[in-house]
Order: sequence, then C-alpha cells, then structure tokens
Amino acid sequence: MKEQLMAHPVFGMAARQFDRTADHLNLTEDVRERCKWPKRLITVTIPIKRDNGDTEVFFGYRVQHHLSRGPVKGGLRFHPNVELGEVAALSMWMNWKCALMELPFGGGKGGVTCDPRSMSQRELENVTRRYTSEMLPFIGPETDVMAPDMGTNEQTMAWMTDVYSTHAGHLVPGIVTGKPVNLQGSQGRTVATGHGVAFLATRALTKCKIKHENATAIVQGFGNVGSYAALTLSRFGVKVIGISDITGAIFNENGIKVEDVFDHVAANGGVKDFAGADSIDPEEMLVQKCDVLVPAALERVITEENAPKLQCRVLAEAANGPTTTQADAIIEERGDIFLVPDILCNAGGVTVSYFEWVQNLQRFQWSEQEVLTKLETMLAKAFDRVQWFADKQGVSNRVAALALGIKEVADVKKQRGLFP
Ligand code: NAD
Repeated sequence: MKEQLMAHPVFGMAARQFDRTADHLNLTEDVRERCKWPKRLITVTIPIKRDNGDTEVFFGYRVQHHLSRGPVKGGLRFHPNVELGEVAALSMWMNWKCALMELPFGGGKGGVTCDPRSMSQRELENVTRRYTSEMLPFIGPETDVMAPDMGTNEQTMAWMTDVYSTHAGHLVPGIVTGKPVNLQGSQGRTVATGHGVAFLATRALTKCKIKHENATAIVQGFGNVGSYAALTLSRFGVKVIGISDITGAIFNENGIKVEDVFDHVAANGGVKDFAGADSIDPEEMLVQKCDVLVPAALERVITEENAPKLQCRVLAEAANGPTTTQADAIIEERGDIFLVPDILCNAGGVTVSYFEWVQNLQRFQWSEQEVLTKLETMLAKAFDRVQWFADKQGVSNRVAALALGIKEVADVKKQRGLFP
C-alpha cells in the first residue's frame, strides 16, 4: 500500500513535503512513520439508478489521516479525477492544516469519482445518500465530520445530515459542516474560505509594502472559494483583472466587476462570454502581470513550465496542492514571490467549520460578524506564527507552515505513546 500511495502524483507531492519538513524538524524514524501514513483508507462502491434507467456503480473514498487530536475533519469532493491517492494526500494536508490552526481535529478527506456537471440533482442526491449510508460505521460528530469541497455544496451536506439523522432517530447537526443556515449551518461558512484567502492575501501585500488600493489580482476557479476570494479582494480595494473557470478565462486590465460575474455565472453556468472582459487563454492568464495570483481550482496547476514565467508578487494558494514540488523549488529559488501556502491560505474554511461544529454541539448560533471577526483573529495569529518561524529558522513559508502543523501532531503522538 505504501508503494501504491507513493506512486500517486498528488500523494507523492504531499509525502515529499512531509519528508522535507520532518528532516527539518529532526523527527525520529518511529514518529515520522506514525505521522506520515493515514490511519484508515476506506473504499466503497455506490450503485445508483441513472435517469435513463441504467444502473451505474461509482467508487467512493474516505481517508482518515489521524484521529490522535480529535475527530477527523475534511471535505467531500465529487470530481472525475478523484482517486484514493489524491484523497489520501488531501487528508494529510488537512491534518497539518487543523494542527497549524490549533483546531481539535485530525485531517480527513472524501471523494466520489463522478462528474457532477453531467448528473441530474436526483442522481447527485442518490450518490450522496448511498455514499453516506456506506460510511455510517466510520463517521459521527466525535469521529469524522465532512464538509463541502469541489463539486459538492450545502445541499450535499443537507442530504448527508438527513441520512445520518434518520439512522440516529433525531437531528444530528454536528455530523457535517457547511450545511444550510436553517439546518444549523453557521453564518459565514459559505464565504469563509474565500474571505480567509483574501484576508491573508492582503496581509501578504502589506508585507510586500504594496497598498491594497494599488494592487491587482487574478483568480483561477470561480466556485465557492474562488468567487468569494475575488469578491472579498475587490471589497478590500484590490482590482480583480482576470478570472477563469472550467468554461474559459476572462481578462480586463481595467478591472472586472466581480458582482456582475456572479450574475453571469448564475445565468450561464460559467465565466465564458462575460461582457465586461476579453477572453484569454486560461494558461496565459496565469502568467499575466498582477500583484496577487490565486489558484482556486485544481491541484498541480503551477508547474515547472509556468513557474519561471509568473509575474505575481503574492501567490495565495486557495486550492489544495496547486504548486508542484518542482515549481515550488523554482519559486523558492526566484525569491521574488511571497507564498501564502495552501494549508494556511485556505484554512478559513475549516476554521469556520470548527465554529459550526462548536455551535452545533452547544445548540447555539453566532452572527456572521462574530464568525468573521473570530476567523480573522485566528488567521492573523497563524499568519504571524508562520512568518515568525520562517524568519527564525530561515525556511520558506511552506516549510514553516508545515513544520508548525507536523510538530503539533508529532508531539501529541509522542505524548499518547504507542498502543498496545
Ligand atoms: P468548486 O467546485 O466550488 O469550484 C471549483 C471551480 O474550479 C469551478 O469554478 C470550476 O469551474 C473551476 N475549475 C475546474 N477545473 C478548472 C480548470 N481546469 N481551470 C480553471 N478552473 C477550473 O470547488 P471549491 O470548493 O471552490 O474548491 C476549490 C479548491 O479549494 C479545491 O482545491 C478545494 O480542495 C479547495 N478548498 C475548498 C474549501 C471549501 O470550503 N470549499 C476549503 C479549503 C480548500
């Protein structure tokens, strides 16, 4: 299994990041091994009836990286490229992210290999319900709490809540986060990840002595994270000049009205043909001159091919694993790009998920203002800790963020000892 996981490009990337950081931390071999490998890798089949009457079997996964510091927390992804190795890598990053943010969670991730864009609501509901029921023995508010990720949303979470609660015989809101607010979701959860990305990007701009009102941004991906990152950046005074999604890319050096893109996407299903900007090749868009580049879609989009050509001052990694190991080395070598690494940059999502879980356990509701204020306080603290560690140890922001997360997990492993 170790070889199989290491052969997966995304897991290999996460494992190399871990090894490099573990070397820096001088982790002993036993703690290193216990920290690196996931605790549980669950694979299920999900048979459903398609709308045309055919039966189709999908594969679903859940990887629980560690339960040592609390229940595992992490998203559920519906995408054609979902594979066990990818899910395992994402669960590992979630683990370091939760520890970096000092949240009482381990990392988890789930996924179903399917194309939600080609499925009806009924088919998506059936996949979600069957996936949840297959996962019943492994999930719960004290064991594993899922949330939306690529291709899933608050409706997915509502169906999952329904399946779990029906089996329990009463409403169990703490089973997932990112639920609709009237089903005890948290105010502010929908905007949380994007808001956090924009908040941290502007702190990075300040570090680079660039004023927000003079800054420009390019955002890849206009889903939950990318859209709210773009909107919040524009509300902070940053001019958004490029946006892309799966349908295409748009560019306007005078600035794009992000609110209007929301309306266009709602009406047309994508950013393509937006009237207030020109179309541009999506790859070309990434290397245009800007102050903040926000990859908010897929993994491994900043590569050794485009890394030398990047013209941004801040790379705010809203997606998980957007930068390959080779590109990372190029960016470090260049030294002219301020990196906000993924496990810090997109941590707003899991932080507000934590707030939602706490509110659910207490049957309490906080206001959006309360949520976002608490979020900004926690993100600012994590940003400063990463900067402090990077400066003190002379390492990159990525190694600093990973080191803070991994050390926390390693310390707990050592304290708890080895059972039996
Ligand atoms: P989403 O499904 O809501 O949106 C994904 C977006 O990416 C869509 O706009 C889609 O069109 C676009 N996209 C897909 N393929 C593309 C391509 N080849 N080029 C350009 N755009 C493309 O997903 P999301 O929840 O916004 O997640 C995006 C990323 O952020 C993922 O890496 C996810 O793991 C990460 N993330 C999400 C959350 C969250 O709270 N949703 C939290 C932390 C991290």
